[in-house]
Amino acid sequence: MAGRLFVISGPSGVGKGTLVSNIMSRRDGLWLSVSATTRAPRKGEVDGKSYFFLTDEEFDQKIASNGFLEWANVHGKRYGTLREKVVEKISEGVDVILEIDPQGALNVRENYPDAYLIFIAPPSFDDLKARLVGRGTETEEQIERRLQTAKVELEQQKCYNRTLINDDLERATQELLSIIDSCK
Ligand code: ADP
Ligand code: 5GP
Repeated sequence: MAGRLFVISGPSGVGKGTLVSNIMSRRDGLWLSVSATTRAPRKGEVDGKSYFFLTDEEFDQKIASNGFLEWANVHGKRYGTLREKVVEKISEGVDVILEIDPQGALNVRENYPDAYLIFIAPPSFDDLKARLVGRGTETEEQIERRLQTAKVELEQQKCYNRTLINDDLERATQELLSIIDSCK
């Protein structure tokens, strides 16, 4: 039987990365896709593990050769899901997880209608802001831009198969695991 494609998306700072890292450490047999990006590596990030770090030319070549399942411009840099590995894993019967931005999530569905789209929502807009500020990885200006984008993204949750509110982290992790377990 083919594996399933789960797309975990939602606004920046809502806790997607945290939730995905929790589920990956608690379930065997899930495969997390490593995306390509044109942004520079942050301290501690490893090429091929965190992302495949590509130049603009390399990214253009991947687009031209239909190498992406989806790609999007996110906060001024390009990010894309590499098609080949994802398709290979699904055909081997492995469940695949994508953690991508909301433009990408809706694009995946165009290319892969069977994908199961999960929107991670904050308990409130103030919580989202507090998380972005608390993470401390963006400037004040970048945070403001992400919050403006979040307003549009929150409107789109109706286009997803499911919304999950990331209120208490452990509760939300359990809910995400149960969605994945029950969608087999
Ligand atoms: P994203 O990947 O969606 O941009 P992160 O996983 O980096 O978001 O989380 C953003 C910040 O919010 C991090 O500092 C993280 O520790 C924190 N966070 C994640 N989930 C929760 C939660 N349920 N409650 C409070 N803080 C959270
Ligand atoms: P960061 O630069 O903080 O790692 O990621 C910025 C944003 O890009 C996050 O919202 C993340 O989910 C998104 N992202 C990461 N990989 C991909 C991808 O392959 N495609 C799309 N569309 N978005 C991605």
